[in-house]
Amino acid sequence: MRSPLQSLEAKIAQIQQEITELGADLQPGLLTQQYNVCGKAGCRCKATPPQRHGPYYQLSFTRKGKSRTQFVKREDLPLLQQQVRNYQRLKTLMDRWVALGMALSQLRLRQQQELRMVSAPKKRAPARVSRQTPA
Ligand SMILES: [Zn+2]
Repeated sequence: MRSPLQSLEAKIAQIQQEITELGADLQPGLLTQQYNVCGKAGCRCKATPPQRHGPYYQLSFTRKGKSRTQFVKREDLPLLQQQVRNYQRLKTLMDRWVALGMALSQLRLRQQQELRMVSAPKKRAPARVSRQTPA
């Protein structure tokens, strides 16, 4: 049977494996589509009901504190969607790794403590008894 520590290590190894399988392409951000109104008089985009132009696709993302938006060609959309999914997946995997890694850290610290207690001769802790005197 696996110890809790081994179980955490196995879960993290699984995440590491999934990250290596992600592929190199990544793109943070949000893909949106929009429809526009133009300036031409009598254009269909001003008819009733309006038939606005588009869809136009854009990618918005924030990197190192700077927000950017760029237009995306329709033919580039599938590739970019894949890249955005990769980034989202990486973030999810990293978040799970961090959570598991923190649990692993606590277990390891406890394990070290237990090893020290086994190997080191027991020092008598100074009596630190706080007697509760009944009122
Ligand atoms: Zn128009």
